[in-house]
Parts: sequence; structure tokens; C-alpha cells
Amino acid sequence: MLAARSPPQCFLDSNMASSPDRPEAPPPSLTPSPLYPPGTEFRAAQERDLKEALSGMDRSIPLVFVSGNHDLDQVPTPSTVEQYCRVWGDDYFSFWVGGVFCLVLNSQLYFNASACPQQKEAQETWLEAQLSRASSAPKPKHILVFQHIPLYVKSPDEQDEYINLPQEVRQNLMERFKRAGVTAIFSGHYHRNAGGCHDGLDMVVTSAIGCQLGDDTHGVRLVAVTADAVVHRYFSLEQLGQRGVDEELRKMLQAC
Ligand SMILES: [Zn+2]
Repeated sequence: MLAARSPPQCFLDSNMASSPDRPEAPPPSLTPSPLYPPGTEFRAAQERDLKEALSGMDRSIPLVFVSGNHDLDQVPTPSTVEQYCRVWGDDYFSFWVGGVFCLVLNSQLYFNASACPQQKEAQETWLEAQLSRASSAPKPKHILVFQHIPLYVKSPDEQDEYINLPQEVRQNLMERFKRAGVTAIFSGHYHRNAGGCHDGLDMVVTSAIGCQLGDDTHGVRLVAVTADAVVHRYFSLEQLGQRGVDEELRKMLQAC
């Protein structure tokens, strides 16, 4: 039997708990937590600093964490996963917001689970149950997936690299996501804006708020969700600081 998995409650408004129809729930902010690797000397102080910085955020906006390679190591172990979960909450979980079903995955377990096959197996069993739950009533308005490493950055058939998931895993997940009716997958890791849309499945790769590896500016992606559409756009911090997003958000919603 699987243990119940849920978003880290310490960072969530309690009314966003796992229920299929809570239109009043505020949209969450999905946050990668790029920490120093587990066990390094700066890790504990960095976790303290990050929590302190986040404590200044508006508490009505739920903050949800998506674990990545810096949090768990490139090749995660039971120990690095346990360390992460102790501080930040579950490494994979699902939640509902406004009738939208969101799945947060631990993509390191898809990249290389050689040191923790049991954790990989457990996530697989859990994911299968979540995807079949998504196709039963009440049906979600959309299904969104969040994972640190993208399935691909430019094309579904690109070569295996550090910045994507291996071909075999990638094709398997894409097929299952399509069958379940997933609308979009949101990822980071590449530190550049990228992605593509194939067979109705939107692979969205968002650059970093910090270190850029391409020509993008420091920024964040705003996602607008209506009953019929999921639209998104990357905003530079400069643009956010100067003009805010109200007008752009209105345009995005009008285009839905
Ligand atoms: Zn990464």
C-alpha cells in the first residue's frame, strides 16, 4: 500500500489540499530549489537562507517545490532523497487547484535511479495510479506535470544528453501523458527557454531566475489557466519591475 503523498503543507495554504474542485484556491507558485549538493558544507546554511528569504513571500500564495539534481544529486540515493524530503516535503506528489490536476515528479529517478531502484519503482506505481485517477470522474479541466529535467529541450527524438531524459524513458512518459490527457509539462534545468508542442502535448522549458546559460534575461514564467486553455509567457525581472504583469496577463487571458 502506498503512503499518501501531498504537497509540503508548511508552504501551502491549507485550502489547496488534494480536492478536485476548489475554484477559490489561489494559483500556486512552482519553485525549483537549486541547492548545493547534499552533504556539501554550504548546504545547511543555504537551506536556512532560502527559507528565510521565502518567508517574506505573501502567505496566500502557495509555494510548491520541485526537486532537481542540485537537491538530490545527479544520481540520487535513498539518503539524499530522505534529506531533501525532511527539509522540503515529498519529492513527488499531486494536488488540485481550481479543478486542475497537478503532478509534481522527481525527474532524477527517471534520469538515473541506479542507486535507488525502490524509490523509482514506488514513484512509477504512484504515477500510474495518479494518471488513471485523472481519467476518472470528476475529470480535471487540465492535467499539468512539473518536473525538473525536461523530457526534451527541442525535439522529442533528440539525442540523450545531460539536459534531457533518456529516449526510452522520454517516449514512455510522453505516451502515458498523452493517453491520460496531460496538457503541458513544465521544466527547468536547461537554464534557457526552450521546448516544443507535439501531438498536443506542450513541453515548456523555462530559463532561470538566476544563472543564464543562453541569451535569455533573468525572469519567471507566468501561466494563465482557463477552463479551455493553458497559456504561458516568460517575463524578464526588469519587465516585471517596471510594468508588472496586469496588462500582459489580461492580453494572455483574452487570447485564450
Ligand atoms: Zn538542474
